[in-house]
Amino acid sequence: MTDIRICAENGCKRSGAVRLHVPWADDRVVCTAHARVLVQQEGVVAEPLDDVDWT
Ligand SMILES: [Zn+2]
Repeated sequence: MTDIRICAENGCKRSGAVRLHVPWADDRVVCTAHARVLVQQEGVVAEPLDDVDWT
């Protein structure tokens, strides 16, 4: 069972805040910290979920 509001990265228990569109893998929802890292990869697009405070 997958809770899409929890970060999809292994071992990360933060709440998911961003949907990542990954060309070579399934879309996933990750926390802001992981999103900032993952969007550095070419082709990855980050789409903030509703009601998320990015500050
Ligand atoms: Zn995370």
